[in-house]
Amino acid sequence: MYQSSRPRGDSPVSIIGAGIAGAWQALLFAQAGHAVTLYERSDAAMTLATSHWAGGMLAPWCEAEASEPVIGRLGIRALDLWRKHFPETPFNGSLVVAHARDRADFERFAKLTTGHRRVDAQALRELEPSLEGRFRDGLFYENEGHVEPRRVLPELHGRITAAGGKIEFDHDADADNLDGLVIDCRGLAARDRLPELRGVKGETIVVESSEVELSRPVRLIHPRWPLYVIPRGDGRFMLGATSIEAEDTGVSVRSALELLGAAYAVHPAFAEARIVEFGSGLRPAFPDNLPRIAIEEQKISVNGLYRHGFLLAPALAELTLGYVARGVIDNEVMQCV
Ligand SMILES: Cc1cc2nc3c(=O)[nH]c(=O)nc-3n(C[C@H](O)[C@H](O)[C@H](O)COP(=O)(O)OP(=O)(O)OC[C@H]3O[C@@H](n4cnc5c(N)ncnc54)[C@H](O)[C@@H]3O)c2cc1C
Repeated sequence: MYQSSRPRGDSPVSIIGAGIAGAWQALLFAQAGHAVTLYERSDAAMTLATSHWAGGMLAPWCEAEASEPVIGRLGIRALDLWRKHFPETPFNGSLVVAHARDRADFERFAKLTTGHRRVDAQALRELEPSLEGRFRDGLFYENEGHVEPRRVLPELHGRITAAGGKIEFDHDADADNLDGLVIDCRGLAARDRLPELRGVKGETIVVESSEVELSRPVRLIHPRWPLYVIPRGDGRFMLGATSIEAEDTGVSVRSALELLGAAYAVHPAFAEARIVEFGSGLRPAFPDNLPRIAIEEQKISVNGLYRHGFLLAPALAELTLGYVARGVIDNEVMQCV
């Protein structure tokens, strides 16, 4: 489909929000030759962004267990973009394991997802020597990757300026006061224009242990939440994440017990680990938990990335650029309002 009132392909572009959604938009638009300014109300540490608190897993096949096919379609495309723009991104795959009592849920997870192969105890040990003797078998999603949000966001910001874009931190921007094409990537703060948005709380704990080594995210089947352990390097591991329909911040005792229990279930040496950080973020979500690119003449909003922001942001940026450059509409995620 083609829109006649779409912005011009050479418009200057203002992007509001330098989280993962806005940063990828800024990068692709700057690289395509647009004069890009990216506004961010936080400072460069980005602690106001949900993206700061995320796991950073690039896991379209695992996520298929609880999401619509469009997440897989865009996510698989996005993996190519991560590989192209950040060739050093670790694509070591992900592992899914379960204890005997959760066997039925493990088999259900296997049935609902593709892109994996079953690995027995020996293959598991070869992949992750630290897990020797811990699990009877596992599911290995060998094409999945992960990024460290607190490393990749500054890298993205650096790439944007290298491509000629400007970034203004500590700048609370208002879409109505900006010229040219405005791309609103404010996450949950965009509720003033998108009242259906809600926050889905995710709690995490970072621990440090010299006794466990992992090369890839390990998901532990759990009756309520997909709990995981993500290696962060330097002996640090992120334990995540709860998924709670609440918009407060902080970590409850119950969640902390579950997250720490999951780590202990993956490896008992985590009992001696040092707790480095408790954290939580609010995932911006629409009622259907699907991302949305809403187009209104010179304003485009990209939001609702829910639990898939790192996975989907490159593909959503490519779609937005495709619309501005060539008028291409993706009916599954774009709406002209
Ligand atoms: C615990 C947890 C784990 C997660 N794990 C994963 C994962 O493993 N993989 C994955 O793909 N996703 C994951 N997610 C989801 C992912 O973090 C979100 O989908 C993503 O961060 C949303 O990005 P965003 O850019 O839309 O929003 P944000 O990251 O919140 O960015 C919006 C930015 O806009 C700025 N802003 C707001 N208003 C203004 C204004 N007026 N002017 C200027 N700036 C403004 C804010 O300061 C903020 O920096 C996780 C989320 C959580 C909470």
